[in-house]
Amino acid sequence: MSEPLKIQGVVVNAAQWGDNDKMLTVLTRELGVISVAAKGVKSLKNPNAQAVAPLCYSDFVLKCKSDVYSLVSADIIESFYALRNDITALAYGVYFAQLASFCVGRNNLADDEVRLLLNSLYMLSKHPDRCDVLKCAFELKICEYAGFAPYVECCSCGEEGLYFDLMQGEAVCSLHKTQSSKKLSPQVKAVFEYVQNADLKETLTFALDASLAKEVSSLAEEFLSHQLGRLPKGLDYIKKLNIQENN
Ligand SMILES: [Zn+2]
Repeated sequence: MSEPLKIQGVVVNAAQWGDNDKMLTVLTRELGVISVAAKGVKSLKNPNAQAVAPLCYSDFVLKCKSDVYSLVSADIIESFYALRNDITALAYGVYFAQLASFCVGRNNLADDEVRLLLNSLYMLSKHPDRCDVLKCAFELKICEYAGFAPYVECCSCGEEGLYFDLMQGEAVCSLHKTQSSKKLSPQVKAVFEYVQNADLKETLTFALDASLAKEVSSLAEEFLSHQLGRLPKGLDYIKKLNIQENN
């Protein structure tokens, strides 16, 4: 039997598994996304139950046998408890965690992604009224960390990009636009450029109008969907909440 593995990570998902157990999806800096079988944690009396709740950032001790991880113990480092009192902020947090895990995959170093996620969850818990701005900032920054930051000038000729090509991930001029190009307003383009040049703190404190953030997000979602082939389920839930709020 190998030595237990000590690792820190954010619980992205805790799926029901058997009567008393859960199968965790955990985002870690060192191993990317891992699945962890957590026995007995559905019982509230279980000492590990709280530290394996979704969005908890915890210290894990794991056993590894034939590439399968199982939970020995877990201790909370940060629970982002405030998110649990605000259903909308919680929904955005879950979406951020899911999106980060989609962008990382297994056995990839995920230092930047974990840092982005932890800082975004912190900002979300302090400023739940900035959900939409944080979402737009998160989506653009995660593209950059995943290696597909959108280009804002037409790569074919260097002219100003007036459209955004979802397939190529770059702005294109009117001459080089294709069927997969969408109109790119100067305001949306300016947000793309700002986030690309901003560090993490500047990105997450960006003073951005919520309606412009939504416009950027709608393009970012389409772009992410093209790049990843799918979008997290958490996004559907956010859209449902937004519809309810607007009715
Ligand atoms: Zn061009």
